[in-house]
Amino acid sequence: MTDTTTPRGFSDVFDTEVVGRWSAPGRVNLIGEHTDYNDGFVLPFAIDRRTTVTVGVRTDRLLRVSSSFEAGVHEISLDALDPASMSGWSSYVFGIAWALHVAPTRAESPAFSAAGGDLSGVDLSTATGLDLFVESDVPVGAGLSSSAALECSVALAFAELWSIDVNRSTLAAVGQLAENEAVGAPTGIMDQSASLLGRADSGVFLDCRSLDADVVELGFAAAGLEVLVVDTKVEHAHATGGYVDRRASCERGAAALGVSSLRDLDADDLARAEQMLDDETFRRVRHVVTENQRVLDTVRTLRTDGARAIGHLLDASHVSMRDDFEISVPELDLAVATAQASGALGARMTGGGFGGSAIALVPTEARAAVEQAVVAAFAEAGFAAPTVFTVNADEGARRDA
Ligand code: ADP
Ligand code: MG
Repeated sequence: MTDTTTPRGFSDVFDTEVVGRWSAPGRVNLIGEHTDYNDGFVLPFAIDRRTTVTVGVRTDRLLRVSSSFEAGVHEISLDALDPASMSGWSSYVFGIAWALHVAPTRAESPAFSAAGGDLSGVDLSTATGLDLFVESDVPVGAGLSSSAALECSVALAFAELWSIDVNRSTLAAVGQLAENEAVGAPTGIMDQSASLLGRADSGVFLDCRSLDADVVELGFAAAGLEVLVVDTKVEHAHATGGYVDRRASCERGAAALGVSSLRDLDADDLARAEQMLDDETFRRVRHVVTENQRVLDTVRTLRTDGARAIGHLLDASHVSMRDDFEISVPELDLAVATAQASGALGARMTGGGFGGSAIALVPTEARAAVEQAVVAAFAEAGFAAPTVFTVNADEGARRDA
């Protein structure tokens, strides 16, 4: 292989012997947006789009990594794991090794202690170097968390090859630590939890305070439903600034109302919040408080009345994100409104916002009509053509070979 062609497989790049292959899925958040960092509730599911890492064991202490997305090999020594020397996409991979390395010093941090895992004995001083080749069919930057898919496939491979006995909730916290401090993205723990804890046909109902995770059967196929993803192709241009700004509003609101996080508020507190807060902060708080309730309502409705009954909760979630949290964009609003008008039972933007994807819960017989309507509406509005595809709830991270 030359430096300018993207590699197609492990052996195009590396000459060590393959010892195994691990994969982890992207995720769709069914409901519960911007609630994770407020200690609240989320209900994502792992999707049938995965990132796979093929691994060879080296005899030295180097980690070397290559991706089918891009030519070239990145490397770092296990003796020199330092976020300051990491950049670009390989920081997601090297960041996991770094996070495992520093985990013993972070064992008391809220994420690790809530996860109940014990990483205090982890010692990478004798771990072997590895060659890693990454392939993926999770769309990047579409709000389906290709980043968590990458982190979690690699985390599972490292844990197994370096004989680290760790539960999956703790591994999710390792992924979050890597993304926060090695990549530098201040994200919550939802994506890694979905990618590691997902099950076929099920959602992961996660309490982001206790990190208790419950599997909730979705039953979409049995109810004759599909989840359509509309990838608007709009890049999260203001995503980082907007995200940081929303987090700050939430912290400000919680402090003003005398709670440690917005999780501690419910609908009864909103009248008081409206009196005490400026209008913008109040609307940010109202989104989080009502969104937490919608997650609880969605879980209960799925269990009692089934998947066909949750559409209005998705719709209400979108309105709240559009008007109160103000993280939608015209393309997402159009995708949602068009899906709703052409046969979807419910629709909302999903992910952090400012671009990315919308989801629509659609009866199978209406799928083609919804897709056509959305594509036509985008063309009419002069927006770039969206990609529309179905996702199914799939198994979390696993060893494939
Ligand atoms: P999202 O998680 O919504 O897809 P992010 O910006 O959080 O978007 O993560 C996308 C980044 O993750 C990419 O820009 C790249 O750095 C990295 N990444 C994800 N998948 C791969 C892959 N298969 N190969 C290389 N890098 C990847
Ligand atoms: Mg991501």
